Amino acid sequence: MNKGAEVGRGKTKVLYVHPERADALVVVQQDNITAGDGAKRHTISGKGRLAALTTSRVFRLLNAAGLPTHFLGGGEDEDNNEMIVRRCEMIPIEVVVRGIAAGSYLKRNPGMKSGTVLAPRVVEYFFKDDARHDPQYTAEQIVEEKVATPAELELMSDYARLIFEILAHAWKLQDVLLVDLKVEFGRAQRPGGGTEILLADVIDNDSWRIWPAGDQQLMLDKQIYRNIATPTPADLDGVKAKYEEVAERVARFCRSSGGFAAIIMGSTSDAEHAERVEKALAEYGIPVRRHVASAHKTPLFTLQKVQQIDNMLGRPVYITIAGRSNALSAFVDAATAHPVIACPPLGQTWAGMEVISSLALPKGVASTIVLEPENAALAAAKILAADDPVIYGRVVVKQYRNRVQITDADAKMNGPTENGRAGSA
Ligand code: 5GP
Repeated sequence: MNKGAEVGRGKTKVLYVHPERADALVVVQQDNITAGDGAKRHTISGKGRLAALTTSRVFRLLNAAGLPTHFLGGGEDEDNNEMIVRRCEMIPIEVVVRGIAAGSYLKRNPGMKSGTVLAPRVVEYFFKDDARHDPQYTAEQIVEEKVATPAELELMSDYARLIFEILAHAWKLQDVLLVDLKVEFGRAQRPGGGTEILLADVIDNDSWRIWPAGDQQLMLDKQIYRNIATPTPADLDGVKAKYEEVAERVARFCRSSGGFAAIIMGSTSDAEHAERVEKALAEYGIPVRRHVASAHKTPLFTLQKVQQIDNMLGRPVYITIAGRSNALSAFVDAATAHPVIACPPLGQTWAGMEVISSLALPKGVASTIVLEPENAALAAAKILAADDPVIYGRVVVKQYRNRVQITDADAKMNGPTENGRAGSA
């Protein structure tokens, strides 16, 4: 695309004014690869394209999960690999999240064995200053030097943990261990005034350590380049092959696993309850099929519906909505090997009397009974999240927002605690 003036340049990217939008920039990633704060530097033809593909695919997943990022679009071949991002003021802090002990963490913690699983994950801050080799900063230093406010730092740390959680799961689905990750944030102008914290910069194969099958020897990331003192052209070709593999693998991050929810209600009088379930499922982007089928009145029809759903492409999670005996749930459960969530509408009236469903399910029936429609949707989302990175991301972000609501309410009641929400993600 036509680009405006250059507004900034990093070691591996150039930023340009967007030709039409004052609130956006164009990012072009370059073919450079550097290590040791720029002391070692090479060019790998095509690396910029692979970095743009990787970054845009990672950011698409994080946007879909509901995290605030600067990524607006582009980055794929049809856009000449140019990414469009929201303009923001960068906060000069590298936030590193570590799930596994490796790299500089081992130097600072000599007693720690490489590969140790860290729980909770460790969040560290490094002030961006090549001349001083990006010194580690404490939260107190960041606030004292007015690099970020306490509230901004808390958000950056929470978001960094969530990003790690979501990307670790996406990689896990490919049997790859996310070891550690570096992210950066910016301050963007809110349309209504004030600023907001956004994930900014890039997340590419330079930003993390990834070990297939949890084996460091099989690493796919930039560490391969860091480990070679003076790389030959053949070494650089080997590095490029890994970057190509990673760009291809992350293309799977946003691919839906084809899961869907099959809502079966015992009667049209259950429709209101079903609508609440459907609305909550929509928040996770879960497609829904809806049927009315009664275990009491139309057992063969119900069985046929279940068989049809089971035989369709994609992975179903059944949600049965039936009052009275709740027999529908046991019936569907016995007919399918897929998960069944029973969400009986309690408190229905029948012939003028309030009906309390019998919640007991016979022995040998695996249905989970969930009373709130929103919780039934969450239970279905958790099942489908097991092999779907986007749904997993949405669950993680929703749970985080639920926690924040509680801790914010508590802070309002009692004033902020010394630690704020630290560690709540
Ligand atoms: P370490 O502190 O162990 O060297 O690095 C921790 C994590 O941050 C690793 O995933 C590493 O790739 C990443 N990282 C550290 N410094 C930089 C940097 O300057 N640029 C990029 N892209 N990633 C970095």
